[in-house]
Amino acid sequence: MEFELWWLLALPITFGLGWLGSRLDLRQWKRESELKRDAPLSYFRGLNFLLTEQQDKAIDAFIEAVTADPNTVDLHFALGNLFRRRGEYERAVRVHQNLLSRNDLPAAERQRAQIALAQDFFKAGLLDRAEAVYTTLAASPYKSEALAALLQIHERTKEWPRAIDIAGQLERLGAGSYGRQIAHYWCELGLQRQQSGDIQGMQEALEQAVQAQPQAVRPWQLRAAIAQQQDNPPQALEHLRHIAQMQPDFTALVALDAARLFQQLGQADAGRAWLLAQLQDYPAIDVLDAVLLLEADASERYHLALSYLQTHKSLLSARRVLDQSSTALSPEPARLALAQAVEGALKTRQRYRCAACGFEARNYTWHCPACQGWETYPPRRTEELQLITP
Ligand SMILES: [Zn+2]
Repeated sequence: MEFELWWLLALPITFGLGWLGSRLDLRQWKRESELKRDAPLSYFRGLNFLLTEQQDKAIDAFIEAVTADPNTVDLHFALGNLFRRRGEYERAVRVHQNLLSRNDLPAAERQRAQIALAQDFFKAGLLDRAEAVYTTLAASPYKSEALAALLQIHERTKEWPRAIDIAGQLERLGAGSYGRQIAHYWCELGLQRQQSGDIQGMQEALEQAVQAQPQAVRPWQLRAAIAQQQDNPPQALEHLRHIAQMQPDFTALVALDAARLFQQLGQADAGRAWLLAQLQDYPAIDVLDAVLLLEADASERYHLALSYLQTHKSLLSARRVLDQSSTALSPEPARLALAQAVEGALKTRQRYRCAACGFEARNYTWHCPACQGWETYPPRRTEELQLITP
């Protein structure tokens, strides 16, 4: 017991002695070198400038401290981060390159400086150089950070085979599930191949997409598009119906295309019945539009729209009723004025909204241009989203 108490006292004493020793050392070290004596001074001057919000002067003072004193590795990092946060990427690059030019830098600090430098390049939009530095870190403790950054770079430069490779590596590292992303990369690669006329290559890419994520909707949508191009409407329709069966929520996204295919095949009645059943189970304005397209009778169309409005009281469905009510509503000018008012109110409310960041897009998109997320848009227009979300 006593022995332990003794230790409890000894610890702070040892610590205090060490601290005193380091201060004594510091004084001696200050006396020894004129250059080194200036370094802490400019450091404190820099702090003073920071406190008085003179950032430019603070940075100059820090630079002076950093160049004068070779032992201020952490100050280098602080300064570099400060530059990067202010958007001064060139200066951030110089600070980190300065660190890397030192031969005495320990390996751990060197890797830390490399990752910081890669971040500078990335932020500055110098993707080639960022990629080169991140690649050298693929075997370092920063491996998963470097791979995640490389993935972002390949996405931006649309190098899909490399993105697929890196996403696979990340998955094997245990960094989460990348199946959904990989499926989209294969779809993007397929579209690239299609643009260069390689339809066979596109089909193979879509097959890989389905393997990467069996529940993926997009490859089937692209397969339907190919079938349509190849003048094979039955095949195209089959692919779209597969989507509705597999992910019924996404029927909204393919309903109008399916309706047109039914029309083209002379199966309007069968199509209308199928779409009505879909509308019943997974109501969405786009499915209603598809049903209306296949309904020849004007008064039946009006009643379909009205009954949808009664269960889904949104501006979108109100507009459909107005559109179908040319005979039911009179006089005509009143109907037109109402339609225009609804149209105006709807202007910003029939878009799609990213569930991850809230960014709104006029057309459905698989890749959010704002937060770079994949498949973050629900297949519902914002006006109906408000209706469904409590
Ligand atoms: Zn987003």
